[in-house]
Amino acid sequence: MEIRDLFNQQSDFFNSNKTKNVSFRIEQLKKFKDILKENEGLLYEAIYEDFGKSEFETYLTELSLLYHEVNGLIKNVKKWSKRKKVSTGIANFPAKSYIIPEPMGVTLIIGAWNYPYQLSLLPAITSLAAGNTVILKPSELPSRTSKVMARIINDNFPSNYFHVIEGGVKETTELLENRFDKIFFTGSIPVGKIIYQAAAKHLTPVTLELGGKSPTFVLADADIEMTAKRIVWSKFLNAGQTCIAPDYILVDQSIEALFLKALKDEIEANYKNKGDIEENYLRIIDNKNFDRLSKLIETGQVYFGADLNRAKRFIGPTILQNVSFKDEVMKEEIFGPILPVLSFTNLEEVIKTVKERPKPLSCYIYSKNRKTIDKLLTELSFGGGAVNDSVMHLSNTNLPFGGIGSSGIGSYHGKAGFDSFTHYKSILDKPFWFEGNIKYAPYTKKKKAIIKWLFE
Ligand code: NAD
Repeated sequence: MEIRDLFNQQSDFFNSNKTKNVSFRIEQLKKFKDILKENEGLLYEAIYEDFGKSEFETYLTELSLLYHEVNGLIKNVKKWSKRKKVSTGIANFPAKSYIIPEPMGVTLIIGAWNYPYQLSLLPAITSLAAGNTVILKPSELPSRTSKVMARIINDNFPSNYFHVIEGGVKETTELLENRFDKIFFTGSIPVGKIIYQAAAKHLTPVTLELGGKSPTFVLADADIEMTAKRIVWSKFLNAGQTCIAPDYILVDQSIEALFLKALKDEIEANYKNKGDIEENYLRIIDNKNFDRLSKLIETGQVYFGADLNRAKRFIGPTILQNVSFKDEVMKEEIFGPILPVLSFTNLEEVIKTVKERPKPLSCYIYSKNRKTIDKLLTELSFGGGAVNDSVMHLSNTNLPFGGIGSSGIGSYHGKAGFDSFTHYKSILDKPFWFEGNIKYAPYTKKKKAIIKWLFE
């Protein structure tokens, strides 16, 4: 089907007002959940073929989040869609005031490749819950997951309500020519700028979920073993291809040696047997990214790892030591299983350096000292993060998820997601039986005095 026709059909369906019915939305969300359940096998197969993602990791980092989100949407959509009364004030007596949560219309979701199911389907179902229609364009890089999403959605939902368009730059560019009511994009900063510009032509509101280099502070009083355990899991999950992975470590020099050893011990403990890494660890998405990451390892000082196999697109967990902010690995988001460790002696100086760089999507602080934790939380600006953990803040749907500055615009998950796909229409509602008359001509001193009395 032509993209323009699809857009027009969705526009017509939205204008039929069917999606404004909350029971209809709940029905569709339940249907989505059933489809997800029925097709788990296909989803596992496709993602394994694309980049060796195991069933365990696929469930943990993709499907479990989708189930959790869809359950929350089903439970809350009725409450969130209700009109909300607010106070009116004497100036408008005897009116009442309320806010109507209103769906935006035809929405476009553009997904990234690294968590192909979660990053495409989670915003899509949130948009449906808010009463919109959805055209979803998943990333073309993991081609099998893109295909399987297109199949299970397009076979089960009418195209004028929820439809997947597969493709890359060409298809996305064509999609962007249409006057969408909302665009939700997950991906890189350079493409985020292209999307923002295309949206600006139609004054379409956007949510941009972008990336950046997320710093991780390890202070002298941190529990070194637990810190290493949590960082190793969150960094090497998805082979480091995670937008909120700890990008680099800033460790207090006094514990650097102990911390490096703890990281190494933890990695070795995770992959004791040869088969462990084969079964549980992902491949790099494509050769282009493999070559980019290999170069970063070549230019750095390896403390551990650097196990590379281009034919298999495999890069083992790798730690770089004696890294400085000027090194190649510190210039761009790593997005792979390479963990540079930088040490510091002066926290003030390192805070200043981090502040001079673009605002990251996440930041993590490992310490027992509340004062230092609060100092970092107050002084640094970033999308979201965690104290004494990494990545896990994403799993709490009560925490809005999104970036700031170059790491993104807007947020989603739970109510924040519903809000990002909703317009809050404000209404003042007045009966005919009374009119104060003081705002009408002729304007007199007495009327002005009453107005002054009302407002001051
Ligand atoms: P990407 O920007 O290359 O691609 C994202 C999407 O944009 C894809 O669907 C792709 O087809 C489309 N696209 C690519 N070039 C385009 C163009 N010129 N015009 C129109 N559309 C185009 O990003 P990626 O490689 O898929 O993902 C990696 C990046 O995404 C990283 O920077 C990562 O940090 C970020 N990311 C952010 C989040 C988040 O939630 N904030 C999550 C995952 C990934």
